[in-house]
Parts: sequence; structure tokens; C-alpha cells
Amino acid sequence: MGSLLVDESEYGQAAQSMIDTQLRARGIVNARVLDAMRTVPRHVFLDPSLHRRAYDDAALPTTDDQTISQPYMVAVMTQTLGVDPTHRVLEIGTGSGYQTMILARLAAEVFTIERYASLAHGARDRLDSFGVTNVHIHLGDGTLGWPDLAPFDRILVTAGAPKPPPALIDQLADPGRMVIPLGDRTYQTLVTLEKRRGKVHQTDGLGCHFVPLVGEQGWPGDED
Ligand code: SAH
Repeated sequence: MGSLLVDESEYGQAAQSMIDTQLRARGIVNARVLDAMRTVPRHVFLDPSLHRRAYDDAALPTTDDQTISQPYMVAVMTQTLGVDPTHRVLEIGTGSGYQTMILARLAAEVFTIERYASLAHGARDRLDSFGVTNVHIHLGDGTLGWPDLAPFDRILVTAGAPKPPPALIDQLADPGRMVIPLGDRTYQTLVTLEKRRGKVHQTDGLGCHFVPLVGEQGWPGDED
């Protein structure tokens, strides 16, 4: 993916400033996370009309009323997840594929599930354009996980849930770690769940604001 890294584009300076003022200044210290976020071109994951704002300190719209998370939130989630190069990671909520690509640079393999076909296809095209080969995208209800390919060393849920989906707890490796925003449909707490010797330990983190996780083990959809 060398030739497409953001360093070499006109967005390099915007990306560097994002790293310094939004991430380092607020306590993101993990060198691998910072490096991934400096080199993955965020603008490519957005509609051209938003390219100018791609490195702003904000969440931005994708399609289907969904969003790409604020860079700081992506960094916090990724740093909290603690991804090693050997890990198999499950992500719920592919969206634009931006967070997916950050994970793909840190993990051995990434399995990601999106409920909207247009988003899943857009993400596939972008990841292919970078020559990313360690990402597997599934179209469907991520609250049920991906049982055939479990267990996963790390699980990242990028939509807000009322409670941890039991299917995802089951599919988490032991030891394993899941990061998930838990709360109501508008405001959540970024929660870390650690599975150790069959027990799950919860640590609460930042307050946050994600679109709802809609599915069988999440929130009911508009149709219900
Ligand atoms: N990580 C994304 C942002 C995701 S926004 C990015 O970097 O762009 C949350 C995403 O979760 C949305 O795309 C939404 O469609 C998706 N989503 C919500 N409920 C879901 C479910 N049950 N299964 C899979 N995807 C879901």
C-alpha cells in the first residue's frame, strides 16, 4: 500500500496536525496506533465533498445516516483494544472501512460486519484499492458475531449497544478483550470487557456518542 499513504499526498500536513493536536495532546501514546493513523488517508474514506474536513476534530457523515467516528475516538478505541500483530480481530460496524483499515495495519486478520450493503461494498472497494488482503467483510447482523470463525482475540464494536451482545461475549477468546460503547441510543460509555479464565471484567472509559447498534442482540430497528 506504499504509494497511497497519506504522507505523500497533499493531506500529509493535515494528518500530521491531527496526530499532534487531537491525539498526542490528549494522551494517545501508542506508537503503532499513531503511526497507523498518520499513514492511513482518512479523506479516501469520505465523500469528495467532505475531503477538506476529513482531518477535522469531528465525526462526519457517511451514507445511510451513519457516521465515520471522530479521529480521537478511533485512536482511543484502537489504543484501548491493545492489538498485537498476531491477533484476529472482529469489528462490528464496518461503515466507511476507516477503522477497519487502521485495525488491518495492526492485527494479523480483521473480520468486520456491516448491516448496510452500500457501506460494506464501499469499504471493500477502498480496502482493495490499498491492496489490503487481511480484511474479511460480512454483510449482516453483527450482534450475532461470526460464529464460524470464532474465537477472536479482540472485538471492537463501533456502534452503541444497550448491553454487550451475548453472542459476542461467547465468541471472545479467553484471554480476550472487547471494547464496546454501552448506554442508550444517544449517549454511551466506552466500556472495556476483559475475559480471563472464564470470567468477564468490566472497566468504564470515556463518555461517547455513537449511532445505534441495530440488530437481534442490539437495538430494535425502525421497522419493529
Ligand atoms: N467504524 C466506522 C464507523 C461506524 S458507524 C468507520 O470507521 O467508518 C457504525 C456502523 O455500524 C454503521 O455503519 C452502521 O450501519 C453499523 N451497524 C449498526 N448496527 C449494526 C449491526 N447490528 N451489524 C453490523 N453493523 C451495524
